[in-house]
This record gives sequence, structure tokens and C-alpha cells, in this order.
Amino acid sequence: MAELRANGPYVWITWLTRLLVGEASCEWAAWFQAQHESWSWSKVPSSFDHVGWQLAHTAKLNTVHAELEAEGLTVSLERQNAFTLKGRAIAIGGKPDLIARSTEGAIVLDVKTGKPSASHAVQVMAYMYAVPRALPEYRGLPLDGRLVYTDHEVEIPASAIDSVFVDSLTSLLRRLGAADPARKVPSTAECGFCPITQSDCPERRVHQEDVPGETEDF
Ligand code: SF4
Repeated sequence: MAELRANGPYVWITWLTRLLVGEASCEWAAWFQAQHESWSWSKVPSSFDHVGWQLAHTAKLNTVHAELEAEGLTVSLERQNAFTLKGRAIAIGGKPDLIARSTEGAIVLDVKTGKPSASHAVQVMAYMYAVPRALPEYRGLPLDGRLVYTDHEVEIPASAIDSVFVDSLTSLLRRLGAADPARKVPSTAECGFCPITQSDCPERRVHQEDVPGETEDF
């Protein structure tokens, strides 16, 4: 049986991004993970090739790191950038790939090896919102963002952190931090990538090919 988190609800920024841009709809999946200790519930085994992804990601990260240092910027890496930002209802955690700092300001960078997606930009924007609030060394510094893909880059200006973005982010955080369960939206597309098993989510939808049925006459 899943146990409530001893220190209150907690989310990783990466759990929020697809919900914020409408690429995912089942808020319950993030709510359940936010509310419960990770060790206390069983997970669907992942088929994602983590090793291949990690090798490609680390290689690109090292290249970008070297380029930024060659430009004279001071660069900090993933674990150095880890933060927890505490709210009244929930805490959020993140670990930006790189933060590059100059005398004028700083840039939060995230390296992506796959296809571009709106959720990537929102991930960087959430870091731009949280980093100056959570890490004292960036308090008051103008913070821009940059997405680095294998063949191009996308700049995200500090002005992107406007009231529309902040309202969307904080409303979602409040829903995930509430004791009342968030909206559950079962679909084969989303359940297929969800780590929560049928024992915690009886509505979990199996892939259509796994459901026995008649073949239509067309
Ligand atoms: S299994 Fe499906 S319905 Fe259940 S939490 Fe995950 S995405 Fe939502």
C-alpha cells in the first residue's frame, strides 16, 4: 500500500512539463507520485533505453560545457544546480543540466537529444522561475534560458516568465499538492508510458492490441 510522503508532497519539474503544455492530461499520475513515497509503490518496468540516452546526453553536455567555458563563462553542472523550492502545499525539485554565469547575468541550459517539443521549453522556463528563488547565488540575477538540440538552439528570454506562465505553473502545483486527488484521464496513449501499475490505478488502460474482440467487417 502506497504511503504518504513523510515530508509532504514533492514533485520533480519534469513531471509537470507535459501537463502544462497539454501533451499529457492525466494529472492524477503526477498527483499520486507527488503524494506518495517512491519506495512504497510498485512500478511498471521501463522499456526506455536509459544507457543509450545517457551516453548521448552526457557527450552533448560535455561539448556544450566546453564551449561555454571557452566563451569565458562560469559553468555549473547538473548536481551542482540541484534545488528544492518549498511552497505551502508542495515542494518542487529540479536539476538543470547547466547554468552559465557572466558578470551581467546567467543562462539556464537544457540539453536535448530527441525531437523538439513544447514541453522542453516549459521545463527550462520552470527552471528560470525556480532557480533564482531556490538558489541564493542566483537571487536577483537576470536569468535567460536556452534549449540545446543536436542541430540547433532555442533561446528563451527572461520575459517568458510572465504572469500567464506563473499562474499555470502555480495552479498545477496547488492541484498536485492538495489532499483531494487530481483529475484522472485514462488513455492507452498515456497509460502506456505511465509507471503506475493497475494495483494503484485500476483504470489503467492496456494497449488496444491486447484487448480481445471482434474484427470489424471493413
Ligand atoms: S495508468 Fe493511466 S489513468 Fe492511471 S495514472 Fe497512469 S496515466 Fe493516469
